[in-house]
Amino acid sequence: MILILSSNTDQQGTNYRQLMDHLGRLPGISTRVHVERGSEQTLTEIYLIGNTKALEIEDMQNLPCVERVVRVSEEYRILGRHKDDLRPAYFEYNGVRFGQDTLNIFAGLCAVDNPEHVELMLKALRDNGQVCTRMGAYKPRTSPYAFQGHGRNCLPYVFDLAGKYGMKVIAMEITHESHLDEISAALTQTGSPTGVMLQIGTRNTQNFELLKIVGRQREFPVLLKRGFGITLDESLNAAEYLASEGNRNVVFGLRGMKTNMGDPHRNLVDFAHVSVVKRLTRMPVCIDPSHSVGTRAAAPDGILDVMHATAQGVIAGANMVLVDFHPAPPKALVDGPQALLLKELPYFLDDVQLAREAYLKREVLQRRYQNA
Ligand code: PEP
Ligand code: MN
Repeated sequence: MILILSSNTDQQGTNYRQLMDHLGRLPGISTRVHVERGSEQTLTEIYLIGNTKALEIEDMQNLPCVERVVRVSEEYRILGRHKDDLRPAYFEYNGVRFGQDTLNIFAGLCAVDNPEHVELMLKALRDNGQVCTRMGAYKPRTSPYAFQGHGRNCLPYVFDLAGKYGMKVIAMEITHESHLDEISAALTQTGSPTGVMLQIGTRNTQNFELLKIVGRQREFPVLLKRGFGITLDESLNAAEYLASEGNRNVVFGLRGMKTNMGDPHRNLVDFAHVSVVKRLTRMPVCIDPSHSVGTRAAAPDGILDVMHATAQGVIAGANMVLVDFHPAPPKALVDGPQALLLKELPYFLDDVQLAREAYLKREVLQRRYQNA
């Protein structure tokens, strides 16, 4: 059960103390307090853990400071979408809103290779009105002999250039807790010219110790990729690990499932789960058409499979698109064959816009028929 307190409740005030004293006396119930400081108001939520079935909603509702009470199901207590749950399904980071109602494009390099390519990429994004990108510095690779990413060495120039071209958020995968410190240090060193969304890749979806560490920090939001060989429920529980440690600024990423039933695509595209994740949780949902499809093959209509898959996710209401581009794919050190070209960026963005408009019209259509 969650008690949502009136905004700006004073934790030093008598009412709050009375409330906590009362909760402390409830048998078999422990409490966990979560405070979310926004630019305008501070929201406090109290999670009651234990035998909450015995508690009456009405009694809880009448306690001091309590504005609303939500009875949560066992699943995804914090990130889940519960009955009568009006908690927001969005967060803001570095001036960018991430919600189940917005759409952000993160086009960029799968892996940072050199400053020249980073700059060409970022300039193209700026010229096309984009403020978000993806830049891989730490790359988890199947072979230990493959390029592992430039790691912390590339961070200063990536952040400087991101600032130069007005990037607000860079999605960047980390595979170890030390990467978190390296990113923080490089941001401080460069004067924090941009923001970072930490990405937990599909190989680490169930790396629970990494999830706990990333969940304990609240400076950076997190993009958690679905595990490629586990159930959706298992991946959503992984997201809940982040939230249960304190960080609920989590975007959930669909990136295809590993099975040769998806051949000739790299993975079996799973974007039909966009609506499922939005129904079960309050997380914004990201799609990664590049790592799902994995090739630049095109249909007879001339449209690339990557773009068809993107449109399928966006028309279903996806909130973020993570997509590989490269200024010179044959020279890319990772995933060149699936990268889109910089000259395709305006076309890609226009195509996404079409699908987004179609989605918004579908929402209106739904409401019209529902109210008829
Ligand atoms: C990536 O986005 O660079 C990546 C490696 O993705 P995934 O973890 O989904 O394979
Ligand atoms: Mn890749």
